[in-house]
Amino acid sequence: MSNLDGQYERLEARRAVIGDGFEIRRAVPNRHRRMVGAWCFLDHAGPVDYEPDRGLNIGPHPHIGLQTFTWMIEGEVLHRDSLGCEQLIRPGQVNLMTAGKGISHSEESPTGRAGRLHSAQLWIALPDAERHREPDFHHYPILPIIDRGGCRITVLAGAYEGEHSPAKVYTPIVGLELSTRGRAQLTLPLDAGFEHAALTLEGTPGLNGEILEPGTLLYLGPGRMSLALESSAASRTLLIGGAPFSEEILLWWNFVARTPAEMETATRDWIEGRRFGKVHGARGKPLIAPDLKGLLAKGAR
Ligand code: MN
Repeated sequence: MSNLDGQYERLEARRAVIGDGFEIRRAVPNRHRRMVGAWCFLDHAGPVDYEPDRGLNIGPHPHIGLQTFTWMIEGEVLHRDSLGCEQLIRPGQVNLMTAGKGISHSEESPTGRAGRLHSAQLWIALPDAERHREPDFHHYPILPIIDRGGCRITVLAGAYEGEHSPAKVYTPIVGLELSTRGRAQLTLPLDAGFEHAALTLEGTPGLNGEILEPGTLLYLGPGRMSLALESSAASRTLLIGGAPFSEEILLWWNFVARTPAEMETATRDWIEGRRFGKVHGARGKPLIAPDLKGLLAKGAR
């Protein structure tokens, strides 16, 4: 298909800081693109080498209405949550936390030693019928892998070419990691009912003839049947997609909801120690919610 078929946009990720000073690239939400299917957030961290105790340190914080989806490429991060789960995630593994009506968690690099971190964290908006469900957490140590045309395709979410990710999601979505070690050329069939976006994590692969550097998100509107991937060196690309999300959502701080009033209640519940439980053993201090005023002013318009 040519670039003229459907929408085709190059969007730039912006730099953001998480935890106590860890810099990442935020590709979604983007000023020009709020969601890709139900995927409503995409942070790319690293690859970066850090000194002892200078890695990730995100203290306890709450979530509602979404799933956090962590894909580890290099390094290790320890997850702790208010359900009592404590899980070290290693390269090639996924952590999936379903916030539902409310959960809190912390994420931190192992302490006392230098390390390297390369990971992606995505959020998936829960549809209205599922967003008040009980929270849960799952660790997936093994994901299906498909080899095609010199490319290693890891099925992170949804299904691809008959391989199903074990990750439990609630809307039709797909998440793939496309990794090459050298020369590769292949055509990836796409679900034409999905919109998609590709983000390079390493290297400079060609996607539909566009050279995509880390930090640039290539958005592909619905109606596309395929995506051509070409590389002459090592590269790593995240491809996400899904049926366009039909519900209007509000994303504010760590919450996905539908109304400013819900945000206000969730924020009060966090400040006053209700609903989100306790995270035990976290290194970082609990995060302080930002001021709600901006959001409430928006909602009042
Ligand atoms: Mn979080």
